[in-house]
Amino acid sequence: MTAPPLPAEFALIARHFRPLAGPAGLGLTDDAALLDPPPGRALVLTVDTMVAGVHFLPDDPPDLVARKLLRVNLSYLAAKGATPLGYLLALSVPRATPEAWFAAFAAGLAQDQAAFAIPLLGGDTTSTPGPVSLSLTALGHVAAGGMVRRAGARAGDLVFVTGCIGEAALGLRVARGERADPTGRLLARYRLPTPRLGLVTPALVRAAMDVSDGLVQDLGHLCRAAGLGAEIEAALVPRPAEAGQDELALCLTGGDDYELLLAVAPEAQTALETAAREMHIPLARIGRFQAGVETVILRDPAGAPIALGAGGWSHF
Ligand code: ADP
Ligand code: MG
Repeated sequence: MTAPPLPAEFALIARHFRPLAGPAGLGLTDDAALLDPPPGRALVLTVDTMVAGVHFLPDDPPDLVARKLLRVNLSYLAAKGATPLGYLLALSVPRATPEAWFAAFAAGLAQDQAAFAIPLLGGDTTSTPGPVSLSLTALGHVAAGGMVRRAGARAGDLVFVTGCIGEAALGLRVARGERADPTGRLLARYRLPTPRLGLVTPALVRAAMDVSDGLVQDLGHLCRAAGLGAEIEAALVPRPAEAGQDELALCLTGGDDYELLLAVAPEAQTALETAAREMHIPLARIGRFQAGVETVILRDPAGAPIALGAGGWSHF
């Protein structure tokens, strides 16, 4: 007696996702993955969902969508000082989705799995009457007790940020046809963030978070977690050369940066800057945490406060 033929769903999984599975994924043939955490290490877990029409445009190239989904989650692991271990992938796609979409999506994953040394562990695939919805759960590991939290900044700590803030916000405008992008750089930064893995360690950083909802709003989260305020100097925040003066607020509140915000003790500054240079991670000191009201004050070069209007992205 032979087993009945498998439905198309399993053929899709075998063709496109099985080649991406690491040993703990058991060839994607079981109900669950089985993973031995590295001895003495604590697991760090994070999940992020991307919905067509909300987080990406429905006709964005599937390989880039896949890479962004993975990179966004890697950025969270980076913010916590974690080393990537593996990921789970949940896909809800319309029935009519062509196989070429799965092939391109998996090719994107294969490329970034290799770049960031993270294997697929398992997942789920369903059809949906709605738009494409993609959810990825990433696992990482840190030394036991060694995860860098959002809480932990102290008054007098320096505020650092990686990368260039606002490229993605401008890139989204490009994607919507609202802005020119002669070099294609802004659109590329919107579609493909760079997870800053390896920079955050408890020795160098007292608190950290990923910047995804706008620099000012996210710095507010670090402030509330610490019971502190913060001041940042607008001129010190690295912004894209393409940004006009009138786009300051867009850059600082636009979101989708997937850079890191760090609270750093003044005595750790030099060591952090050296580490960033060695890793080729752009890093800038933009301000300071201070005792007092839990708000973020932005100052112009003359020291006058700048009002930005709406604080950052919110789904609701
Ligand atoms: P069903 O939901 O029909 O019971 P499963 O969810 O058990 O099927 O999927 C079969 C196998 O394929 C499991 O090992 C599961 O982890 C894996 N899998 C399903 N969808 C994906 C996906 N999108 N990415 C990675 N692995 C997947
Ligand atoms: Mg399933």
